[in-house]
Amino acid sequence: MKFGTKAIHAGQEPDPTTGAVMTPIYQTSTYAQESPGKHKGYAYARGKNPTRSALENCLAALENAKYGLCFSSGMGATDAVIKMLKPGDEVITGNDLYGGTYRMFTKVFANYGIKFHFIDLSNPDNISKYANENTKLLWIETPTNPTMQIVDIKACAAVAKKQQLIYAVDNTFASPYLQNPLDLGADIVMHSVTKYLGGHSDVVMGALLTSDDSLYEKLAFIHNSCGATPGPMDSFLVLRGLKTLHLRMKAHCENGKVIAHFLKTHPKIEKVYWPGFTDHPNHEVAKQQMRDFGGMISIVLKGADLKETFRIASSFEVFTLAESLGGVESLINHPATMTHASIPKAEREAAGVVDNLLRLSVGVEDIEDLMEDLKRVLA
Ligand SMILES: *Cc1c(COP(=O)(O)O)cnc(C)c1O
Repeated sequence: MKFGTKAIHAGQEPDPTTGAVMTPIYQTSTYAQESPGKHKGYAYARGKNPTRSALENCLAALENAKYGLCFSSGMGATDAVIKMLKPGDEVITGNDLYGGTYRMFTKVFANYGIKFHFIDLSNPDNISKYANENTKLLWIETPTNPTMQIVDIKACAAVAKKQQLIYAVDNTFASPYLQNPLDLGADIVMHSVTKYLGGHSDVVMGALLTSDDSLYEKLAFIHNSCGATPGPMDSFLVLRGLKTLHLRMKAHCENGKVIAHFLKTHPKIEKVYWPGFTDHPNHEVAKQQMRDFGGMISIVLKGADLKETFRIASSFEVFTLAESLGGVESLINHPATMTHASIPKAEREAAGVVDNLLRLSVGVEDIEDLMEDLKRVLA
């Protein structure tokens, strides 16, 4: 099956008892048993719920994975991956991570004796320099947030294999429509489902996808034991969102491309981060591993101080000033004080997250209205 067909149908059958075409919201915490232990595969809803199972199977199909697990947030999903490790283990990861991931690694799991190396992954050979017998996991994100750096998924897979590391990719920014890391050698794909997969800014959810039996068993055990599992209503909302994922992504990419090119030559803009530009440092890798370049764009305002940056960020009519991304509506975000405020200033600025940087999540509104909004605010 091709992508759009899977987005609409995978994991879903008309309900066997009523014929309902849409997967019902099984709003139940528990299930009747015929005799102790004899049930239809569902015992208690933290472990399993039919609405969630349909969603997990659909997401697995979209990432060409054997297994899917949904969590109550993206951070809940990442948390489960790190919980496979034990004190003394080491993790190699990028120096340009989602702020919340960085915060969890440094402020939560560092206290449990897990050591994290935040390194420049633009050259995957750097990984070997930090790997030793305690290194267990390689965690990458591409494109990165918010500076849209591209990490070579396949090249990292070769190093991870050589060093025998579990290799996980946060695929939130690309979505499975643009990129499938498992096909390029990753062991685990993580998603903040909150973003493009849900797509309507009405759900917080995470997911892990894998085709590895032993990793799935460990992750499923943590999933049920630690309990960061989402409810059936949220699962239903994401199933509904997924049915238009391919249509939405196409529109995000089209609008993103027009806006990125408009901003690139605008006199008030110093720099535009978008992997579709031929002069993007890893454009060739992006072209190889992504099907298109998406609607996430970051800009540096020329000579703007914090006050002027705030003024611009607050002057839009169609773009809404808000955290998050990937919904149908366009959002604008000031990473230094919003999504990335938890990263110390020096580290943040070293990664390019300066005070006059703004991040756009280009939505699927009519391009004329988005352009008018941008032209007016930047006039
Ligand atoms: C939002 C986000 C997360 C965290 O997901 P939540 O659903 O907010 O917990 C992780 N990684 C990336 C790249 C994100 O954008």
